[in-house]
Parts: sequence; structure tokens; C-alpha cells
Amino acid sequence: MPEQPRCIVIATHNRHKTGEFRELLGSGWEVEDLKDHPGLGSPEETGETFEENAAIKALAAAAELGPEVLVVADDSGLEVDALGGRPGVYSARYAGEGAGDGENLAKVLGELAAAGVSGEARRARFRCVLVVARGREVLGVFDGAVEGMLAEEARGSGGFGYDPAFVPEGETGTFGELPAAVKHGMSHRSRAVGKLVAWLGS
Ligand code: IMP
Repeated sequence: MPEQPRCIVIATHNRHKTGEFRELLGSGWEVEDLKDHPGLGSPEETGETFEENAAIKALAAAAELGPEVLVVADDSGLEVDALGGRPGVYSARYAGEGAGDGENLAKVLGELAAAGVSGEARRARFRCVLVVARGREVLGVFDGAVEGMLAEEARGSGGFGYDPAFVPEGETGTFGELPAAVKHGMSHRSRAVGKLVAWLGS
């Protein structure tokens, strides 16, 4: 008899992220997210690091879902060297609470343009930290990063967030232009999930 897929809850309302986890984890896992558990609230992300925020999200959901359910939360974002690492943990709300992806991206590109930052100085990276929790306990922490440069302007409509301006190392296209499979092969999230998958299998 084929093995039943095991269930994991991703502590996010972002279906785009859930979809990426589903693809990266593969068919052995049934992947749910907070939209499948509408009773659960969203804690305030008051941490100053990706790890602190991921732990806040994972533990909040895990405490409510009970001791049987494996929960993973990710906190991720873009670090731009010329902006001292910003937007960092503020990536999702860089242009203000409730700002959309387009506004956040426009703010980053506008700041770089205003400061005359060009060429190599446009170095940036996406970082992702995953925290796995069950009940009230953190079981593991996994991280991943992808280095790259910010384009002068947004190109392409694939992905989400800052993807249209991010050119990963070794490529000329942005994550918004490159096929999803290329992004998933090298992304910060896939690198962190790769470590998670190895841990889940061990
Ligand atoms: P989080 O949901 O609090 O982790 O916020 C992450 C934010 O960082 C997103 O809203 C995006 O703005 C940005 N971000 C994280 N991962 C990616 C990615 O893979 N592509 C583009 N933007 C990303």
C-alpha cells in the first residue's frame, strides 16, 4: 500500500509561499496553511531578526494547533547592502503597513536611484529562516540565502515581492523573468527547505 502523505502546516496566509513549499516538499507531504485554519490569528511580528519572527509565527500557530501538528513558519526578506541591510525584516511592509509588493519594490528602487547607487554597489540577497515547532517547542531552525544584484528597474511578472528586480548571481534575468523552476532551484527558501527536508527525513 502506498504511504499516506504526512501533513505539515505552513504558518502563513500567503498562498504564493504555500505553493512554493508544496512544490519544494514534494508529494510525500500534504501542505496546509493558515487559510485552511481560519480560526487562527496572526501574531504581531515584533522580532528584530528573521529567526525571531519565524519563531513567533511558528509557536503561535503550533500552540493553537496542538501537540500532534507539525508547523513551519518562514520569515524572509531582501537585504540590500547599500541600504545597510534594509528592508530586511521589514520587507513585507517597507512602504508602510498594508503596502503592496509594487509599492515596496518602488521604494527600494527609488532609494537606490536617489542615492545614485549603481553597478556592483547594488548587491543584495534574499534570506529565509524556517522554524519548525510542535506544541510549545521549537524543534529546528534552518536558513538559506541567495546572493544577487538589484536591477535598475522591475522586469518580468513571475514570482512575487521583490522578484522583478532581483538578478541572482550567475544569471542576467530577474526572478520575475526566469522560469519558476530556475528560481526554485536556487532560492533562499529552497535552500532552507532543502535543509528542512533532510531533517524531516532523518
Ligand atoms: P514575510 O512573509 O514576513 O516573511 O515577508 C517576506 C517579504 O519579503 C515578502 O512580502 C516579500 O516582500 C519579500 N520576499 C520574501 N521572499 C521573497 C521571494 O522569494 N521573492 C520576492 N520577495 C520575497
